[in-house]
Amino acid sequence: MQATAEQIQALESLQDIDRRRLRARMEVESLPHGKKIAEIRHKRAQADAKRAQVEAILAKAEEQMNRYSEEDEQLEGKQRETQAKINEVQGDYRSVTSLTRDLDGMRKRRETLEFEMGKLDKKIEEIRSVAEQAGKVVATLSSQETKLTEQFRTETARLQNEIAQADSERASQVKLVHEPLLSTYEAALERCGGVAIAKLDDTRCSACRNVIEANRLLQIKREAPISQCPHCRRLLLID
Ligand SMILES: [Zn+2]
Repeated sequence: MQATAEQIQALESLQDIDRRRLRARMEVESLPHGKKIAEIRHKRAQADAKRAQVEAILAKAEEQMNRYSEEDEQLEGKQRETQAKINEVQGDYRSVTSLTRDLDGMRKRRETLEFEMGKLDKKIEEIRSVAEQAGKVVATLSSQETKLTEQFRTETARLQNEIAQADSERASQVKLVHEPLLSTYEAALERCGGVAIAKLDDTRCSACRNVIEANRLLQIKREAPISQCPHCRRLLLID
């Protein structure tokens, strides 16, 4: 194939640019962040659900505590009223007995309430500490996710920048390579996984390592400085 030294140099630059571009593209695809972020999100969703569950239990317990405390306040008021009535009806034996019985019932109920409230208070403390723990887990996972997302963005931006840089360098090199060299190069690049240029290494192609048979070799050498490997169809540079 016909090629000037300038064109061959452009082809070699093109190969270098394409290698960089391909590496950057593969690196973007193999960034581990996507999978890690998905894992963290999953864990966070689980922790969030647990926290919500614990908080619902806490809200219920607090409601119960409010009911107990309202009842206790009401009883306290009633006790005072009943005591006042007892003071009023002094001498009315029956009324005093009945009111005293009421008062006794109220006192007993308030004792029960005090006991239940004490138990519930401890329980609320425990639930609060579990909720707090769950909140901490969610916060830790959230901050991990933010950090990883940030890293992912930075890495992706860096690689995309490299790709854009390679694309622009490529455009200027492509102008220097004429047909049919360029089409042969592009076809080999596509077919051979990103390596389109090989060198004649004694009797072999440096890329596919196949030996080129004697007659073909003579012909290839006549085509110097550039031919094509009969095996892999890459462009073959002959020194
Ligand atoms: Zn080859």
